[in-house]
Amino acid sequence: MVVFTEKKALIAYLSNFKAQKKTIGFIPTMGALHRGHLSLIKKAQKKNDLIVVSIFVNPTQFDKKEDLLKYPKTIQNDLKLLESVSCDVLFNPSVEEIYSNNIVSEKFDFDGLEHEMEGEFRTGHFDGVGTIVKTLIEIIEPNKAYFGQKDFQQLQIVKKMVRKYRLNVKIKGCPIFREEDGLAMSSRNVRLTKAQRTAAPFIYKTLKKAYKKFNTENVHSVIEWVENKFKKHPLLNLEYFTIADEKTLKTIKTKESDKKYRAFIAVFAGEIRLIDNIRLKS
Ligand code: AMP
Repeated sequence: MVVFTEKKALIAYLSNFKAQKKTIGFIPTMGALHRGHLSLIKKAQKKNDLIVVSIFVNPTQFDKKEDLLKYPKTIQNDLKLLESVSCDVLFNPSVEEIYSNNIVSEKFDFDGLEHEMEGEFRTGHFDGVGTIVKTLIEIIEPNKAYFGQKDFQQLQIVKKMVRKYRLNVKIKGCPIFREEDGLAMSSRNVRLTKAQRTAAPFIYKTLKKAYKKFNTENVHSVIEWVENKFKKHPLLNLEYFTIADEKTLKTIKTKESDKKYRAFIAVFAGEIRLIDNIRLKS
């Protein structure tokens, strides 16, 4: 694997491959890699000649300074994991390399997608995500870029950005990769205490029960049931649970037969914020 910290050198390196008409698959990450990230790389390897992964903890997408400072950094282990799946290129720039001296986001209009759920609870988050994803795509110019459905709202927003800004890249969504006990893999999971880690699979268990209930009960009663479950939980605090249209990400009140719905959840275990979601049968 070749590692670049400077965009100029990376661009020069990639131009050789582009000249040979080789295709590039790109996976942006914030590092602290786990098997969820590796599943994106493996998917990309099936369809592209060259795989580029970026590791960059993007300061502009964090609304809380504390969360940014405490974001796990495990670069030695990340390098090992990337080598183990034969990743070709790692781009690991500094904050200055990406932002120079101006660490601010571009302002985006994602037709309202940015105001729902994560956007409501994490001010400016999607301006930060849009800024970094657009910047990295413009540097790397990949044929395809891969994003996890774990961050489903982010995936929809990136798709919207690519359409709106006519970026020449195909965005591919990948399934959520889970631990055996159902907990969605996340870089943040390593920060959980033993007791929190033991409790955390409750999130997906509740989502699966909500999935079943959605078949027979109305939206309001499913939401109320989930909220009550978390009220009683000693370690997990619900920030939001909502059922939304996959396309608009707007919370729904009633089901319509031709729409696709998903349940979304954000939960605090102490100060660690965990998110998950599940596709519902409509
Ligand atoms: P992150 O490093 O958390 O910013 O994630 C980088 C990419 O990996 C994003 O597209 C995430 O949605 C994706 N990702 C993170 N965790 C998972 C997971 N458990 N399953 C699938 N994709 C994931």
